[in-house]
Amino acid sequence: MSDAWDDLYGLCRRVRCHVLAMATHGGCFVGSAFSCVEILAYLYARQLRLTPESIGSEDRDYFFLSKGHAVPALYGVLAELGYLDPVRLEHHLDPEDDIYWHPNRGIPGVEFHSGSLGHGLPVALGVAWDLALRERGRRCYVLCGDGELNEGSMWEALLVAGRFPELPLTLVVDRNGFQANVSTESLNPLEPLVDKLTSFGWDAVRVDGHRFSELSRGFSGQTQRPRVVIADTVRGKGIPSIEARADRWFVSLRPEEAAALQQELERESPGPVALASAVQEVCCRV
Ligand SMILES: [Mg+2]
Repeated sequence: MSDAWDDLYGLCRRVRCHVLAMATHGGCFVGSAFSCVEILAYLYARQLRLTPESIGSEDRDYFFLSKGHAVPALYGVLAELGYLDPVRLEHHLDPEDDIYWHPNRGIPGVEFHSGSLGHGLPVALGVAWDLALRERGRRCYVLCGDGELNEGSMWEALLVAGRFPELPLTLVVDRNGFQANVSTESLNPLEPLVDKLTSFGWDAVRVDGHRFSELSRGFSGQTQRPRVVIADTVRGKGIPSIEARADRWFVSLRPEEAAALQQELERESPGPVALASAVQEVCCRV
């Protein structure tokens, strides 16, 4: 694929390399991380008014990763964009570091401890309310899993937010069709999701969560209502042998397995952007 988004597709390829490397250090939720790589890359590279220098500033946008088990993808993005020293990713699960299976506020760029599902949106709702009251001109973004929509706290927050049309709040649903090791629709069907969320007072838009032109459409034209972007994605996206598989949720890899998957990734998504020298040693040491 060659288009105006090449730089972001290259970024995503490098982020997936980071995730595979972390999977060799005790394993991680590779499938869940891979489904939201493009979403996170777009948010941090193109959407959020946030830089490594503005962490902690009141004049920043806020991002909450509610599906905390996908944090290897977030760490990869943060490392690539200068928020986090990529060498720290080698310390995944090291007791001496905070690079763990779920987000930790000790990591630069992480706003919120998450992992227990259903908490990110309620917290973000409160932050968005504060931003609106203080007229900060900033926005709050949340990424949740689709299985997370089976948490009652999510629907409480959706119900409340829909009552307040000027909340600067955007929810992204990573609609990869799985929760843990079952499909969402076989466990507790969510569809028709756009209709449900619209009926709660949200401005709902559905996009392909792996195409940047689509993500751009999802985040553009924000209305006066809270926006929900339903991003259709594929669990394990980027490596066909692990895509859309219920059993590739959590993955622990031996180095040779990670190397084989990385070769598969590079065959599927050859990019014009070479691995940055600063991270090459880290993410290719698999
Ligand atoms: Mg899911």
